[in-house]
Amino acid sequence: MTDLPRQFRARLSELFTFSKINVVRVLGSRDTTRKFLFRLSDENLIETVLIPASPALYGSRSDRRTICVSTQVGCAYGCKFCASGLDGFSRNLRPNEIVEQIIAVERESGEKVDNIVFMGMGEPLANLDNVMRAIRIINARWGLGIGARHITVSTSGLAPQIRKLADDLLQIRLAISLHGATDEVRNQIMPINRRYNLDKLLEACDYYAKQKKQRLTFEYILINNVNDSPEQARRLGRIARRLGAKVNLIPYNTVQGLPWSRPQLEQQDQFLSILRASGVAATLRREKGHDIEAACGQLRLQTKRELQPANS
Ligand code: SAH
Ligand code: SF4
Repeated sequence: MTDLPRQFRARLSELFTFSKINVVRVLGSRDTTRKFLFRLSDENLIETVLIPASPALYGSRSDRRTICVSTQVGCAYGCKFCASGLDGFSRNLRPNEIVEQIIAVERESGEKVDNIVFMGMGEPLANLDNVMRAIRIINARWGLGIGARHITVSTSGLAPQIRKLADDLLQIRLAISLHGATDEVRNQIMPINRRYNLDKLLEACDYYAKQKKQRLTFEYILINNVNDSPEQARRLGRIARRLGAKVNLIPYNTVQGLPWSRPQLEQQDQFLSILRASGVAATLRREKGHDIEAACGQLRLQTKRELQPANS
């Protein structure tokens, strides 16, 4: 901007930086789920997923293009089934690094995104201040202009932060990664449950739903012989009904090096029918992107391993 006075330009460059995230890899193609691997200015890798029009999830119209953004490099919460936490936690993403994922995907794909889910790598509520700053930019008319109702934050269950979010005025949506309908099952796969057990989590959920006058969504990945019994389905049904929440069932995506798998189709269908029979609005996501390792954290892990010398 050479038309600006030199001193003013010097001041601007003292105060602001231009960062840019670079595309390392893109998997998938138009009309299917596309996965973007980005390199940040400090060489860290993060993933972003673009999901084409899909059956109405999270209360949005079905013709929406959804983007799934990361909020941290790695994750400190160590859920046993998840690739994002396998290499531990590196750092929080800054607000600009969250927003830039959307801008970069729109630029690379030539498509306008109209629905945002915070379901990539990391635990959004553990980086709440930066996530909220990013959301305000995404939501603002001077920013990306995406309505709060088209923004969904997903959490593994940080109860105090759920309450904090409930007190914010923006009408963003909340999804809870439940993955177990009893403390016994949740304790096995999600260490966070030892800090905030089901009772504490559900109380916070109830508070959120009441404050925002909103229906929550429970995410429930179906893992073979871990959380897929009819008994878990019945208990999940009772919980969801009590809170007036919807349930999204997601067959588990296998992660290289982890022992878990998804149940057979009949078992998945049975789980869904028990939920529905108990009067709960439930969907079973026949997900896209299984073939491109679209579960969060997988592409990054694979690429990191390829880039590293074998014994480092
Ligand atoms: N940390 C947040 C958001 C990121 S994870 C959270 O846990 O909610 C987004 C969703 O992907 C979560 O519901 C998580 O449990 C799920 N997930 C993680 N690994 C998965 C896998 N291998 N297959 C299917 N879903 C997975
Ligand atoms: Fe972290 Fe969410 Fe993965 Fe758990 S499921 S390790 S909280 S990203």
